[in-house]
Formats: sequence, C-alpha cells, structure tokens
Amino acid sequence: MNAKVNTPAPASVPTFADGIGRADFPILSRTVYGRPLVYLDNAATTQKPRQVVEAMVDEYYNANANVHRGVHYLSRQATDLHEQARDTVRQFIHARSTTEIIFTRGTTEAINLLASCMARRKQGGEVIVSAMEHHSNIVPWQLNGFKLKVIPMTDEGELDLDAYDTLFTPETRAVSVAQVSNVLGVVNPIDRIISIAHSHGVPVVIDGAQSTPHMAVDMIEMDCDYFAFSSHKIYGPTGVGVLYGKEQLLDQLPPYQGGGEMIRNVSFDHTTFNDLPYRFEAGTPDYIGTHALAVALDYVSGIGIETIHRHEQDLTHYAIERLSQIQGMHIYAPDTLLASASAGPVSFNIRGIHHLDLGTLLDRLGIAVRTGHHCAEPLMHRLGAEGTVRASFALYNTRADIDTLAAGIERVCHMF
Ligand code: PLP
Repeated sequence: MNAKVNTPAPASVPTFADGIGRADFPILSRTVYGRPLVYLDNAATTQKPRQVVEAMVDEYYNANANVHRGVHYLSRQATDLHEQARDTVRQFIHARSTTEIIFTRGTTEAINLLASCMARRKQGGEVIVSAMEHHSNIVPWQLNGFKLKVIPMTDEGELDLDAYDTLFTPETRAVSVAQVSNVLGVVNPIDRIISIAHSHGVPVVIDGAQSTPHMAVDMIEMDCDYFAFSSHKIYGPTGVGVLYGKEQLLDQLPPYQGGGEMIRNVSFDHTTFNDLPYRFEAGTPDYIGTHALAVALDYVSGIGIETIHRHEQDLTHYAIERLSQIQGMHIYAPDTLLASASAGPVSFNIRGIHHLDLGTLLDRLGIAVRTGHHCAEPLMHRLGAEGTVRASFALYNTRADIDTLAAGIERVCHMF
C-alpha cells in the first residue's frame, strides 16, 4: 500500500509560503519545550482564530440570554444570532432550508441522533458502512440494534464499489460513509456511493467531519440524505456540530431527546412536538457556540474554501513527497490520496519505530502529530497496523512546517 511517489505540487497551485491567516491564530506563536510549536494535528481539532474567540467573549459580555424563551431585548438578540448562525450554516453547505439544519454537539451526536431516531421509527435492519469509518460511524448504529454490512477496501485504499453494490438487501435501512477518511485522507467517491444507494431506494448519511473543513460541500448537488460535521474541526468552538437532513426525511423521524423547546404542548397524558428543526433540539442549545461557528464559517468563506483547499492540497502533496524520501517510511495509500485530490491527513509508520515513540519524540521537538488508531480500529486491522502517526493540515500550515516534521522524523530515526 506504500507506492513510491515523488509528486510535485500541481503547477497551477499558488503556494502560501507563510500559510494563510497565521496572524489570526495566537496559539501558533507559542513555544513548547522551548521550541516553536508546529501544529499538525488539525484532523483532531483546529486552532481558533481571534475572530471566533472574540465573538464568544463579546456575546457573553454583551448579548447573553437564553434563546427562544424570552420576550426581552437580550433574549431576542441572542435568538437572532443563533438563528442567523443556522442560516450561515445553510448557506455554507448549500442546503435548501434552515429547517434542514439541526444543531448538535458534533458529528458524533449527529450520527447518534440519526441512529436512535431511525431505530425508534422501525427496529432492526442493516446499515452499510465502509471499512474506513471512524468509531462514531460504527458504534451508534450497533448500539441502536442495526447490523453492519461493510464496503471492503482495496490494498490501494479505495472502496470496492462492485462489492458495495452486492451488499444491499430488503433489510438495508441506510448507507453511512465518510466523505474523507480521517486516517488515509482519501476522498471517497460519494457521488457513486449515493447514486448506487438511491438506485436501491436507500438513504445515505455522509460523515463530513473531515471534508467540510477542506473542500466545498453542497447538499443540493451532492444529493445525500443526511450530512454531519463538527464545528471544532473548521476553526469553530468545541461542543457544536451540525446534522443536515432532507426535510421530508427528517419529518418522518420521531424526536431524539425530550425536554424544552422540542415540544408544542405537554400534558401528563400526551405531548405534541415542535416543527423542524426544533423537534430535534431539546434543551438550551449552545447558542454562544452556534454564533461562533457562524463566525468561523464566515472566516473560511472570507478566504474562500477553494483557496484553502488548494493550499492544503499543496501541503498534502508536499508532505507525501518529503516524507517518502525518508528511509523506512511507509505512507498509507499515497497514490489514492494524491489521485483523489485530497487535502486530507497523511498517515505513516517508520519501520522499526513504534508510532507512540515517534509521536512522543516529535512532541519534544515541538511538533504536534496524532498517534494511535485514530478511532478507526477496524481500519487498523485492515491495514495490519496497531496504529499510525498522522500529520494533518490546516490553512495556517506551511511547507516549512512539513520540512520541520521531516527533519524531526530523520532525527528520531538516527536515535534508533
Ligand atoms: N468522523 C470522522 C471522520 C472524524 O474524523 C471524527 C473526529 O475525528 C468524527 C467523526 C467525530 O467527530 P466529533 O468528535 O467532533 O464528534
């Protein structure tokens, strides 16, 4: 699975030698162990620009009140910010209506919500997932009584779509796949995955946790039925996420959690439920977080997601080129990563060095990478690896960060 590659960045790609917007991210100028921080763990979470943090502080200081509940000025102001945020999300992912945008705590809660509501609507059945899913797209389905069928992966890191087509049965309730793998970084062919599922009359859930921060996503064009992503992976605050669902499908699902705001009328004998999207949003939402997510999305849109994508794609290409020159280096699925025009993470191991040791020693050099199974244990089994080291990029990263990483790895190699 480790093809030798030496691929220069595509000629048309402008390179941002200094990264994009670095000055907006104060944390990037700190040191760790006396060394400048090189933050390459963006697939886990991104750093936050000043604009996002300041928006949160500003709302707490100046416009904090519970939303949808008060007739007073502050409550209406906070409600406006919260609902404007819903529309910002709608525009960002190009959904038809704000009724299709449900705020959750993150991708994980979005998929749990769906699995739970689908199970309550009708018990049992099968869900098709892929061999490269994050645990949050595996366990919620299992917990809710669905049997998993798995799209196999080739040695090159591609999903086997011929095998996929044979997995459908009358029991298939949904297909649920990641648009971009959080380990391999490859972009899956979701257009074909969706059209095959629809030809079987089955709805598709797309886990957009690793795609939304790096490439344009368009609900109308994609025609998926549900889509989930997390704020904290796209420069927004933690604790907020989004579930998009087609209105006619959401309308058929029972509520998720019970509590305030999701009801229309309550009595001890009978309760009726609110309209979309509030039916799925019980309790006080993280309205400071939703507003800050909107500020983060505006920040991304202000730069342009295409510009960010091209820059990060350049970093991914450059990382593969630089890292593959290191003796004993094994990069996972580099050809598919390059061919899929990904701006995703690069996963690797060095022969003879445990991934945890490599990560720990890189940390002492000020380089933050992720090590371990990346919440994708079934994929690790498929790769025959206990874990990997993962470098993942954001708009503020530079080729110089990757040079530092490569030099760090070489230094660790000399120690072993
Ligand atoms: N799906 C993928 C592909 C991920 O990479 C992650 C997080 O790393 C998740 C789901 C879960 O996201 P969260 O922890 O923000 O809910």
